[in-house]
Amino acid sequence: MDISVVIPLLNESESLPELHQQLTEVLSAMGQEYELVFVDDGSSDNSFAILEQLHENDSHIKVIRFQKNYGKAVGLSEGFALASGTFVITMDADLQDDPKEIPELVATLESGYDLVSGWKKKRFDPKLTKNLPSKLFNSVVAKAAGFKLHDFNCGLKGYRLEVTRSLRLYGQLHRFIPVLAHWNGFRVTEKIVEHHPRKYGESKYGLSRFTSGFFDLITIIFLSRFKKRPLHLFGSAGLTSFLAGLAITVYLAVERIFYQKYLSDRPLLWLGILLILIGVQFFGVGLIGEMITDSQAGKRTVLVRNRIGC
Ligand code: UDP
Ligand code: MG
Repeated sequence: MDISVVIPLLNESESLPELHQQLTEVLSAMGQEYELVFVDDGSSDNSFAILEQLHENDSHIKVIRFQKNYGKAVGLSEGFALASGTFVITMDADLQDDPKEIPELVATLESGYDLVSGWKKKRFDPKLTKNLPSKLFNSVVAKAAGFKLHDFNCGLKGYRLEVTRSLRLYGQLHRFIPVLAHWNGFRVTEKIVEHHPRKYGESKYGLSRFTSGFFDLITIIFLSRFKKRPLHLFGSAGLTSFLAGLAITVYLAVERIFYQKYLSDRPLLWLGILLILIGVQFFGVGLIGEMITDSQAGKRTVLVRNRIGC
């Protein structure tokens, strides 16, 4: 298999026939072996029935349908598990991404990149609720990750199969795919792609994407820096808190013993006790983290780029 196109979808029945037709035109013109992997993420409209119909006349189509809605990250992840092409393309099902970009994405991969991420330079989405927040998101992620792209979360991307195999996606982690791949040592680049306004239906993401995106950013920063040594994060916070609490309580004890200052009206005492307790707690959390890391040690995967004679 040369090219696998993975398409996660939730209630996109109106777009599917058109999408299938555009994809078929582009891919058959490329003259390579291809498959279309549709992941129905628990649609409640007749998306699945339409995919079933399309499959009857086109053996390139594979469809997996979830029992319920798991979110786009899981959709991509299950799609990747089915994909077997040397090159994997992901795109949204709502006709906002253009299949015409596929040949150039593949060419970019062939020129030596492992992942090429679409950049919707001219974007057709609501300005205030989408384009502006997304600009902010992209610059925060670039700073936090130490790796700059203009558009981390474009649905249209091209990957070498190894990249898709290395990703473990859940929650909202699909937004950070280029970062995860970059951290894994893959060569990541971006390419300007054409974008279209949504033709049918509406966006599946509401305002909740702001908070969940923020929490996931914290998660990936934590996992990347401290996953293998959680005590380094919790330990230093715990130690700082513990020592501050200790200093306060020692100071109060000296005053009590040598200067007869009674402790009953000294609010500082509470702060001292609180800081000591928090410090001990943080330490405990860090140690439990270390235990979890240790018990997972055998499952750690090492990504190998080349092998010679083995
Ligand atoms: N999608 C999905 N599961 C979800 C939400 C969205 O598979 O829980 C799909 C959706 O059908 C579309 C793609 O993910 O193919 C991008 O979603 P959408 O177009 O709503 O996002 P937007 O373009 O508004 O950011
Ligand atoms: Mg869309």
